[in-house]
Amino acid sequence: MKTIWKRLFNKIPGLRSLKYRIFFIILAVGIIPTMILRYAILQNYEERAVSVRISDVQNQFKILADHLITYNYLSDTSSEVVNAELAMLAELYDGRVIIIDQNCNIIKDTYAISEGKTIISEEVMLGMKGQTSSNYDAHNQYIEVITPIIETKPKEETSEPETDAVIQDDVAAKSVMLTSVSTDNIATNVEILRSQATTLQMLAVVVLLALAWFLANVLVKPFDRVTTAIRETKEGFNTEAISVMDYEETEHIITAFNELLGRMRVLDESRQEFVSNVSHELKTPITSMKVLADSLIAQENVPVELYQEFMVDIADEIERENKIINDLLSLVKMDKTSTDMNIENISLNELIELILKRLRPIAKQRHIDVLYESEREVHAEVDEVKLTLALSNFVENGIKYNNEYGYVKVSLNADHQYATIVVEDNGVGIPEEELEHIFERFYRVDKSHSREIGGTGLGLAIARNAILMHRGFIEVESEEGAGTQITIRIPIIFVSK
Ligand code: ATP
Ligand code: MG
Repeated sequence: MKTIWKRLFNKIPGLRSLKYRIFFIILAVGIIPTMILRYAILQNYEERAVSVRISDVQNQFKILADHLITYNYLSDTSSEVVNAELAMLAELYDGRVIIIDQNCNIIKDTYAISEGKTIISEEVMLGMKGQTSSNYDAHNQYIEVITPIIETKPKEETSEPETDAVIQDDVAAKSVMLTSVSTDNIATNVEILRSQATTLQMLAVVVLLALAWFLANVLVKPFDRVTTAIRETKEGFNTEAISVMDYEETEHIITAFNELLGRMRVLDESRQEFVSNVSHELKTPITSMKVLADSLIAQENVPVELYQEFMVDIADEIERENKIINDLLSLVKMDKTSTDMNIENISLNELIELILKRLRPIAKQRHIDVLYESEREVHAEVDEVKLTLALSNFVENGIKYNNEYGYVKVSLNADHQYATIVVEDNGVGIPEEELEHIFERFYRVDKSHSREIGGTGLGLAIARNAILMHRGFIEVESEEGAGTQITIRIPIIFVSK
């Protein structure tokens, strides 16, 4: 049902616009009540005018009925006084008066066309029983009033004085008076009122139209300003955060937009920085190779040993270039969403043991102990390749940034929700102010020293992405000269979104 309305609304051109909606709402809110009011007032006026007229007629004819009795008009219709009165009242109310006797014969008709005829109707019968009744015919515009002509019959026994009083039970209407009164003038008044109301209403509609159009335009203006401001930013005229502060709503839109703008700027800056870092890092090995090759070319009769030495250096640089490219490729892969995660339920104990086994030979060269402590058997839903890449990096860093005869300790534990892996070393440590940067791409703490050690500065960026893709957390604690402790927590059950 809702969708039908929605579809209908969307089909009508203009109704999807807030401006037109405000316009129509104001118009409707203004016009509908005036229409109801107009109808109610006219209706009420007509009803009241008719009821006043009825009671007026009834009073007049009650008095006349008394006169009829007094002048004994029912037996003799020649009374001039009564006839004049009848004619006067008929004239006054623009109507017709008919007097019917107890045999239902018409003894007097002010139109003088039905005299001598018989009339039988429910109202007349009720009138004979003493009931006054009235009936309004709105279509033909007349009121019909039945007035009983009641003759009071004093009671026979007159022992008590109050029995002279007129008691309804003791009276019976001998005859009735049927009056039709025209309501033409009421209709005329209603018509005048109606045309006045129409004029007023037309005026109100014109005023409302202008008001609704004005308000709709004014109320929607701030949104137009927001659109203009956003468009200007899009076209590049404006690079600052925009501000349109009319409504709370537009303020929310602008705030959200500025946040988006800020985020895009940060992304853009980091992209630029990344590109310049990448080119720099890729150029360094090539420059070294060029220098080595040039010096060989420049010299004559170069001994074979020097050739061999330089070639080993060139091969090292090629190896370095290769590592950077491979790391970049891993990083690009990790930047994708978790949809291309290859999730399997595996034993983390086995995974860590395998990583340590692979790294032990490197550690051994510098007499570094690689220790492993497992609190329990832990199985988790992880992407084996990505997690291996991340953990290898943490352990490798522990070995690389360590002193001879140092140690790297890996411990594994788990609660019902998370697997916790701690990689701890007693190496060179990281200065506190550098801690927040180590996960940035190409960031390396001690550039000159790091260069000797080898690496691209992409390892932790890759590792961080890999852990985030598992919806995990990394915590780093480090003290310069004392060592580093990295805590990694990943959910045992993989949550895709
Ligand atoms: P890559 O891992 O790409 O071969 P890398 O090891 O230099 O190169 P990251 O692993 O990203 O790069 O580490 C960034 C920097 O953080 C390192 O250069 C090093 O200065 C510092 N760092 C990382 N781990 C440790 C650690 N365990 N102890 C001391 N410093 C560390
Ligand atoms: Mg590293």
